[in-house]
Amino acid sequence: MPRPSLSKPNVNGYPFRIGRARTGMGLFATEVIPKHVRIFEYTGNIITNAEADAIPGKPRYLYNLSRTHTLDGSPRSNIGRYANHSCKPNAIIYVYGQRIYVKSLREIQPGEEITYDYGKEYFDAFIGKENCLCPKCTARRAKG
Ligand SMILES: [Zn+2]
Repeated sequence: MPRPSLSKPNVNGYPFRIGRARTGMGLFATEVIPKHVRIFEYTGNIITNAEADAIPGKPRYLYNLSRTHTLDGSPRSNIGRYANHSCKPNAIIYVYGQRIYVKSLREIQPGEEITYDYGKEYFDAFIGKENCLCPKCTARRAKG
């Protein structure tokens, strides 16, 4: 029997949607995502590390694959670029061969934002302790 349409995954077959978050856009679960499942692939173009270094400015969507190659996740077709950073994330990004995936660290409830830790290098370059809008940092600053 077909499931009601409202519970259907609505982003290219994924169990989440793109929506408004604290920091621009974010990914939000539309159904329960079990613990330790692959949620989506972080896609893009594979380039050499030398090519990555030659990109002007501070490119945001680069993810190092190996000592020689980097994935440039800047194409808009990469849904992963909408997932926000959290210092206390519910998902994790990892390299598997030449591909990058994000998987759940625990069960994620419908409506919850899907977040992962961007890593220290990105955090220091683009976010910073005083600017991070994740719930953990927001709570820490509120305490003073
Ligand atoms: Zn934070």
